[in-house]
Amino acid sequence: MNILDRYHAMEYGPAPEARNEADAWLAARDFGRALFIGGDWKAASGGKTFETSEPSSGKLLANVSAANAVDIDAAVAAATKALPKWSAASGYQRAKVLYAIGRAMQRHQRLFAVLETIDNGKPIRESRDIDVPLAIRHFIHHAGWAQALDRDFAGHKGVGVVGQIIPWNFPLLMLAWKIAPALAAGCTVVLKPAEFTPLTAILFAEICERAGVPKGVVNIVQGGPEAGVAIVNHPGTQKIAFTGSSEVGKIIRKATAGSGKKLSLELGGKSAFIVFEDADLDSAVEGLVDGIWFNQGQVCCAGSRLLVQEGIADALIAKVKTRMSRLRVGSPLDKNTDIGPLVDLTQLDRVKGLVAEGARQGAVCWQPDAALPSSGYYHLPTLATGVSPANILAQEEVFGPVLATMTFRNTEEAIELANNTRYGLAASVWSENVNLALHVAPQLKAGVVWVNGTNMFDAACGFGGYRESGFGREGGREGMFEYLTAKLPLGPVIKPATTSAQPVEQPDGDTIDRTAKLFIGGKQVRPDGNYSLAIATAKGKLAGEVGLGSRKDIRDAVSAARGAKAWPEATAYNRSQVLYYLAENLSGRAGEFAARLTELTGATPNAAREEVEQSIERLFLYAGLADKFEGRVHQPPARAVTLALHEPVGVVGIVAPDSSPLLGLISLVAPALAMGNTVVAVPSERYPLLATDLYQVIEYSDIPSGAINIVTGRSAELAGVLAKHDDVDGLWVFADAETCAKAEAESIGNLKRVWSGNGRSLDWASDEAAGDAFLRRAVEVKNVWVPYGD
Ligand code: NAD
Repeated sequence: MNILDRYHAMEYGPAPEARNEADAWLAARDFGRALFIGGDWKAASGGKTFETSEPSSGKLLANVSAANAVDIDAAVAAATKALPKWSAASGYQRAKVLYAIGRAMQRHQRLFAVLETIDNGKPIRESRDIDVPLAIRHFIHHAGWAQALDRDFAGHKGVGVVGQIIPWNFPLLMLAWKIAPALAAGCTVVLKPAEFTPLTAILFAEICERAGVPKGVVNIVQGGPEAGVAIVNHPGTQKIAFTGSSEVGKIIRKATAGSGKKLSLELGGKSAFIVFEDADLDSAVEGLVDGIWFNQGQVCCAGSRLLVQEGIADALIAKVKTRMSRLRVGSPLDKNTDIGPLVDLTQLDRVKGLVAEGARQGAVCWQPDAALPSSGYYHLPTLATGVSPANILAQEEVFGPVLATMTFRNTEEAIELANNTRYGLAASVWSENVNLALHVAPQLKAGVVWVNGTNMFDAACGFGGYRESGFGREGGREGMFEYLTAKLPLGPVIKPATTSAQPVEQPDGDTIDRTAKLFIGGKQVRPDGNYSLAIATAKGKLAGEVGLGSRKDIRDAVSAARGAKAWPEATAYNRSQVLYYLAENLSGRAGEFAARLTELTGATPNAAREEVEQSIERLFLYAGLADKFEGRVHQPPARAVTLALHEPVGVVGIVAPDSSPLLGLISLVAPALAMGNTVVAVPSERYPLLATDLYQVIEYSDIPSGAINIVTGRSAELAGVLAKHDDVDGLWVFADAETCAKAEAESIGNLKRVWSGNGRSLDWASDEAAGDAFLRRAVEVKNVWVPYGD
């Protein structure tokens, strides 16, 4: 055997990480008193416990207290008691506590990593080098935000008591993503880890005791869905932050509907890993190993769909197989292990079932020829080829080490395939041509895009999804907003419509039809049902009739809005100009609109004139801000810049209130348009003629057809249709409380972003009813990571 043969024949020896410290910690702890509430360790009031075991052996690790609704009540009470002092503490005081947590975690870094690996099964290399350091970085980064609140978030305050629920795949890291921004914002928390992985959260609670976190500021409860449900439904929590499956995310969206609770959902994904033919294939293969086999593929943003350009598919697949054959499957505590066990037998069975079903549906599933350890929940890395876009492996989140492969011919097809999913969490784009990568990134429906890289995270950069991957961002400035509220000037309570407007049949034949029609796709069209509503003047006379819009009209309007590509693709300067034209044209007819307001609402001529002037001013404001509400560049501690781009939400439904019927409508529609959204607006049910009078103003203002559509009719009914429509991306509802609650509950089909006034209108005339708080709702923030250097 020559030296080269010897070199190739060399095997890794075992390199186990010592676990004695973790075992000693496990032996010393009383897990029957594992609820950390108000700074004390408590047993569950119902006396129940649940088992947590070691995925690499199935061995029991601990019986942990399982909280029920009574315990959650106690935890929320403790958080509520601690809130006034904590939220009133200076930013500096809070910063010192966050920093102290980070430093204390650093001192126990190894114990955290070993415990995480024992409890979750992830390779020690990952918990040691990624999970734990990133969690620490989160606390230290957010110490800075605590002190920068007044400077960077003027006019905002913490939301209050926050309920936080996290999954088992990154137990400590998810805890850090939740607790650090909440504490920085002056909130107090009740956090529940997943039942498979309670341990590092218990160690974290010990750290809180040592780091001087005031009692009750951080409460950590343990348990399963029962405890989760109690947190979500507790009237004492003002915000719910959830990370987990889309299925449970939808349940929570429904459960919190109408409660006024702030909500952020970080859910599942089916992220695309796109390799163009000019990519550096060896780097792409390494990226793929990280993209899909990191944490055994139990990663929400796992690059689980490999989309490869046809010409290089064979070469890439061959390289991937070779690399897969070298992945080391084994004990997660071994420092050389690449693939550890899945978290639990149920997960293993689920992954096996999905692979079998994918194969049944025509995929060819390949696995390297490797032996699995004799015990533990191991699954070999799996490559599925011949996957059709409809195959279960291309559509469902597997949450295991399974890669589904498809090919594409050109850039358009790559984008189409990438977006052919109900999710929208992340994507990777591989190409040596940065122009191509940055051309593709904005077209991907995903909250994070990595160029020539994957799974890059940082506390300073936002992370979160589009579509059914949830809403809200975690990390950095974007994430801080999730724990803060800006005070909006409240207007009157909105009562359910008791409109006297009655449907009347449209005259047909030779009579001249004076009914104001609907405005869809740039044209005035009759309502599908051919009914109209009679609209009264302030004095009770007939002012005119408007079309009674229906489900079918909303469908047409949504499809016109979806098709109006010219608007989102226009430059911000172009949109700004068009909004200025709109203001200019409204100004030319100010007298007419003021007279209409007086006629319909009974406003004095001066008040009516004032409302029109303010509407023009607001259009001016958003015309001016269209090219100024920009994204940012984050600078993570890596050789990369992260571009936080502001992108339009998409098709936004707007249900406008009766109060200030012109100004209210414009205050909502203008910011949505300014950011490039297309709009389906349902104007005030009582005074819709102000909106229908706008058609001509819109027509003269160069707004592309379909960018704004107006459907008159019954607000509550049309809000419901918009809420259920799965091609509407966002919905802003200012209607009675019941309509708002229903809109939130019915939005779960595609998890559209709903902003509801919860039964209150705003004081539209106030300066605070305009500006960044509105623009922020009109955008999604996409973080595009661009590495640099050789
Ligand atoms: P899961 O939704 O089953 O559970 C998540 C958490 O919710 C657990 O703590 C669980 O006890 C709790 N829970 C379950 N039912 C509940 C209910 N009805 N009300 C309140 N709480 C309830 O998810 P999982 O299996 O633990 O985690 C895997 C999922 O998490 C995957 O879909 C993954 O993509 C997602 N995830 C997303 C992100 C992200 O940032 N987007 C990060 C990690 C994981």
